[in-house]
Amino acid sequence: MSNKATGAQTIREALTRQNEEDEDEEGKEDEESRACGVCGDLAKGYHFNALTCEGCKGFFRRAIKRSTQLCCPFLNKCTITKNNRRSCQACRFRKCQAIGMRKEMVMSEKEVLERRIRIKKKKMLVAPIQLSSQQEETIQELLCVHRSTFDSAFYRFSGFRPMDRNILPASEYNHSENEPPYTCSLSSSLSSSSSSSLCGSFEKQDNQGGEQARESTAVFTALPHVADLTTYMIQDIISFSKGLQDFRSLSIGDQIALLKGATFEVMQIRFNMVFNTKRGTWECGHFTYCIDDALRAGFQPLLLEPLLKFHHTLRKLGLQEEEYVLMQAMSLFSPDRPGVQQHSVIDELHENLAMTLKTWIDCKRTGPEKHLLYPKVMACLTEMRTMTEEYSKQVLQIQDIQPDVISPLIVEMVRKNPCNDL
Ligand SMILES: [Zn+2]
Ligand SMILES: [Zn+2]
Repeated sequence: MSNKATGAQTIREALTRQNEEDEDEEGKEDEESRACGVCGDLAKGYHFNALTCEGCKGFFRRAIKRSTQLCCPFLNKCTITKNNRRSCQACRFRKCQAIGMRKEMVMSEKEVLERRIRIKKKKMLVAPIQLSSQQEETIQELLCVHRSTFDSAFYRFSGFRPMDRNILPASEYNHSENEPPYTCSLSSSLSSSSSSSLCGSFEKQDNQGGEQARESTAVFTALPHVADLTTYMIQDIISFSKGLQDFRSLSIGDQIALLKGATFEVMQIRFNMVFNTKRGTWECGHFTYCIDDALRAGFQPLLLEPLLKFHHTLRKLGLQEEEYVLMQAMSLFSPDRPGVQQHSVIDELHENLAMTLKTWIDCKRTGPEKHLLYPKVMACLTEMRTMTEEYSKQVLQIQDIQPDVISPLIVEMVRKNPCNDL
């Protein structure tokens, strides 16, 4: 009788206090309200509609599931305490029901569990992310064409004008006054990471005094070699593009527009594959280049500083060859290049490549950082876009200062006018 009354009171409390009980274990002054309604042990929460200890919670669930008839060996009047609760299951169960514990809530909990398992199983059937056969083919084509058009050891690079890393006095070259004194910042930022002798020679030159040192940078001693290297890279990038079926199927006008837009980017992606982040150098077979070579070819820090940073960032992603070639293709098939006509066709190609890259990363990569890889690659592509225009600008400036060194192919690539008539 009295037990029943206590039980009813506890349930009422349960309905009003449930939420705070969940959070607050120590906050209640009333010790009794935290006592298990069945055995008096410490209760940590409401289970199956009543405030009980963890032991009685488990006992009630097992008793419901077992569904065997429990039988009291005594007189069906056992008083259940924390210490004797194991001695009579029948009376313990009776007490559970008396304080309002509900069978149907055990069932629903079980159902929840079953539902959870069903969902998990379903997910495992659907979820294994896989590249579609179309995507596999795309990657295979890209790899194949890339490998046949990218000579990472630079074996085929020959007949070039030699690299001249000396600094020539430049009395005949008049540099405008507002030209930035660009040797200082870049050399010093590089001196830690690249071979110091080159940078050292730069600094020496600089220290000879403002005007003359600044003028000396106007002699682009490395330009003939860098121009030949660039021409060589561009020719390979044209072969790469021409090797792709989707590219060949576009109009000649769009092919040119895409190439003009992407050549600098694809070149940088390719150079990144041979970039050594420790030394800050590009290791192209038996040639090793540093950023100062680009400086001596006439490029300026406005381009070279973000470019070097970009190479470090991208290289540190540790991309696989498949990811590099997908990047190249995404850059090539950019629908928003100036002069593009078949915008929607190229847009679709771009989207498919992006999806292929994402799926590739999802199924081939492991580790917690894999979810960040795709956005990071996309950020690198965006970053390069901001440099393309500056590159074109600087090439044309160099061409103005030292004409007849840069090949017509390079000039054509960076010139703005879209060749719609072709
Ligand atoms: Zn208990
Ligand atoms: Zn009993």
